[in-house]
Amino acid sequence: MEFEDVRERALIELFGALEGRYGPNYECRYYPCHFEGQDCTFCFCPFYPCFIYDLGYIKKTTKGYVWNCKDCHWIHEKEVVEEVLAELSGYSRQQLVEEDWLFFNRIVQKLYYGREIGEFVEFAEAYSLMRCLEGKDCESVEEVKFLSVKVEKFEIVEVVEASSPSEVLNGSILIPLLREGYLYGFRSEDGKLEGIKCRI
Ligand code: SF4
Repeated sequence: MEFEDVRERALIELFGALEGRYGPNYECRYYPCHFEGQDCTFCFCPFYPCFIYDLGYIKKTTKGYVWNCKDCHWIHEKEVVEEVLAELSGYSRQQLVEEDWLFFNRIVQKLYYGREIGEFVEFAEAYSLMRCLEGKDCESVEEVKFLSVKVEKFEIVEVVEASSPSEVLNGSILIPLLREGYLYGFRSEDGKLEGIKCRI
């Protein structure tokens, strides 16, 4: 399935759900693909790729980078589906079709973290999700490592492993780098980055 088709399916499912077609799909031959009693409303997630490391991770494949979240249970919980629908029902269909990744990501941040954790950073033209590491078991490290990810129309189009502001792609999203069971990222102050390494 082409990427645009995946986004289209996500929107079709979302609009169906806003009209009242939601809940478990007992007729699906794969049911339950995640857990007994799961809600199948968002078989195609409207927040993909959300870059929430508690729910998935970025993976390099032969075709490039993808957000892998096949084990995400969160979007299949009934209460979460109800919250998502309550939130998204406040927008017109046209707006939901036209809005970009940032619009949907701000919503998923609000629902998952209870607030917007993302921020535009002062040292580059980028939006950082590095505050997702706050509250985790982190230690300072000498080397700074993180990912600068460019997304166009919800598709990951370029990823670089960066270690300084000069390597950040313009208009990208900054997320931690997952390596050998640790998340690598940074804290920043006055444009200076301090490397951190955190347990997942
Ligand atoms: S990790 Fe979960 S919430 Fe995030 S894009 Fe994947 S299915 Fe959606």
